[in-house]
This record gives sequence, structure tokens and C-alpha cells, in this order.
Amino acid sequence: MKVVTDLSNSFNPVPKNTQKTTQKCTEKDSKSGQIKQKSNKLAKLEKDRFSILQKNDKKCFLCKRQLKLDKHEALGGSNRQKSMQWGLVYYLCRECHSKADLDKNTKQYLHDFARELFIKNYSEELFLKEFKKMYRRK
Ligand SMILES: [Zn+2]
Repeated sequence: MKVVTDLSNSFNPVPKNTQKTTQKCTEKDSKSGQIKQKSNKLAKLEKDRFSILQKNDKKCFLCKRQLKLDKHEALGGSNRQKSMQWGLVYYLCRECHSKADLDKNTKQYLHDFARELFIKNYSEELFLKEFKKMYRRK
């Protein structure tokens, strides 16, 4: 016959572990590394200008003379950046460059030539899509 004599020994409560395990770190590194590089982008675009309109043979597009040449975007204003992106850029001597800026007929001629070549190389649809502002503004 078994007799349980003492129960108090078997009662051995484990001490509760009350360690703090969740010490929240709410401080975040909120340094924003965003730097606006719009001007750099434009500078790069200008630096990388190329031309689908003529060979880079160091001759002025208009007078064919071998002089010091400037780059001239076929389409100005809000389309200037687009011109650079698509290679609608002319190489012009100083004289013809000022003509392209001032003379209406020259400007129109350069504009039309660029448009035609663009359409020949790509499509009219793309031209209208890329340069549509030109047609809306009058
Ligand atoms: Zn020239």
C-alpha cells in the first residue's frame, strides 16, 4: 500500500522569467539621400548630342564650309531637349548658326528637313507623338 506522505516537495514552481525581451528601437535613420540631378541630366544630354541629319564631317550643314561649327537643335523651345534626344541636331558655322536663329526661311528649312528625315527614319506617328506640342501651340 502506497501512501503519499508529503506533497510539498513535489511542488516546485519554476520562477517566471521576467526579462524584458522587446526593447523597441524607434529611432530610424531618416536621412534622405535624394539629390536632384535635373541639371546634370540636361548637361549630359547636351554633351552627348548627336545628329541623324548629317555626317560629322566637320562641314557646315548649310554652306558646306569647314569652319568652326556649333551644334544647333532643329527644333527649339520646348522641343529642344527632344531634338537632342532624337539627334535632330545640325552642325553649323557661326554665320549660318545666327542665320538659323534669325532668318525665318532658314529656320523653316532646317525644321522641315529634320521633320522629313525623322519621319523617314522612324515614322510620322512617332514624330507627332514626340513633338506634338509644336502643333498645338500657335
Ligand atoms: Zn555655314
